[in-house]
Amino acid sequence: MREALTNPGQVRAGTGRRLRASSGGAAPLTAPRPLSVSPPQGYYTRRGGIGESGDFITSPEITQVFGELIGIWFVSEWIAMGKPKAFQLVELGPGRGTLTDDMLRVFNQLASLLRKCAVSVHLVEVSPKLSEIQALGLTGGKVQPNPEDSSAYMKGISKTGIPISWYRDIQDVPPGYSFYLAHEFFDALPIHKFQKTEKGWREVLVDIDPEVPDQLRFVLSPSRTPATETFIQPEETRDHVEVCPEAGVIIQRLASRIEEDGGAALVADYGHDGTKTDTFRGFRDHKLHDVLKAPGTADLTADVDFSYLRKMAQGRTATLGPIKQREFLKNMGIDVRLQVLLQNSRDTATHKQLLHGYDMLMNPKKMGDCFNIFALLPHHRLIRPDKNHKSESKSPLPPVAGFSELLMK
Ligand code: SAH
Repeated sequence: MREALTNPGQVRAGTGRRLRASSGGAAPLTAPRPLSVSPPQGYYTRRGGIGESGDFITSPEITQVFGELIGIWFVSEWIAMGKPKAFQLVELGPGRGTLTDDMLRVFNQLASLLRKCAVSVHLVEVSPKLSEIQALGLTGGKVQPNPEDSSAYMKGISKTGIPISWYRDIQDVPPGYSFYLAHEFFDALPIHKFQKTEKGWREVLVDIDPEVPDQLRFVLSPSRTPATETFIQPEETRDHVEVCPEAGVIIQRLASRIEEDGGAALVADYGHDGTKTDTFRGFRDHKLHDVLKAPGTADLTADVDFSYLRKMAQGRTATLGPIKQREFLKNMGIDVRLQVLLQNSRDTATHKQLLHGYDMLMNPKKMGDCFNIFALLPHHRLIRPDKNHKSESKSPLPPVAGFSELLMK
């Protein structure tokens, strides 16, 4: 797949600046409530400020190279899985649509390879504002609302001729062989927070401060709550835990779909493997923002617990990672791609932008170490079903790009 990286590609316009985070948003609360607040009334549907002029910036908005390498990863998996005749590219929470746009440019450059494959794009997005931005960027605005078909709320054709449909829920996406992508999606979903006390686990809730007008505060539930009963694992050793049940449900759905129809899922987010405790925070205008101030106006986020996602896959699929973003991108050939883009452009502003983007993505002090990549793959992609117990006679399975040095967990 490295050959594809040497294809000269045009340099995408636009840059980004700062590392960020993302959210479920919040509505004013009248009684102690869990942190889970419904996204449709939240930040993304009202503000949703991704990009330089917004509240936070993400990798695809920083450099085109990120989306290109993710696009290559899917093509490489498609080849490794025997080039199925069709695949759906399903992106959860596509933001401004930039990542899909960059991936579709790669698919277009590899048109001769994908000639006999019917590709369609399926975007799961709850924000009307962001879906409009996606439609404009991906189709030039040539979309149709789709009231008759209750599953997709909008349809269009990409600039490269690929059909695109929009949905509010992963369950609405038609079944079929699919590649799923969730970039900075899971960190935006609502979480429950728990604190271990001398009396046992208590849930961290949000309440109105009786002493200060219009001020919210954190309180501990006086006793156990249904959530403490359900979400705290018996073997838990931390004394503060954040759980995102919605992420668990979505991973279960992705794992079932991959088990039944084939494909793969790539999750990219900042997170940890079940080690961190208190990560809930807010971002506004690229600065840290008190999560309890002006609910609904800041991007709220919590690190993704990949150990929880792995557990939620429930053995339906194999999992790979999490692997640090800088290792994944290095394995995917980011250095070669950067050199090609630098050679293809003579203007210094573009050079500066490309080098800045590379540094943001790869520098361990920026996004290189704290962002992680995690994959769900069918078991047979990693271990050949060994019907005759003659495994030594079989050729090895192709390694999974980006993760090559990792062993299956
Ligand atoms: N992937 C993009 C955007 C990340 S921000 C990027 O990396 O740039 C999170 C995205 O998820 C936004 O598009 C937001 O509107 C969407 N989103 C948040 N909650 C959602 C939900 N429950 N279902 C579908 N999309 C959701």
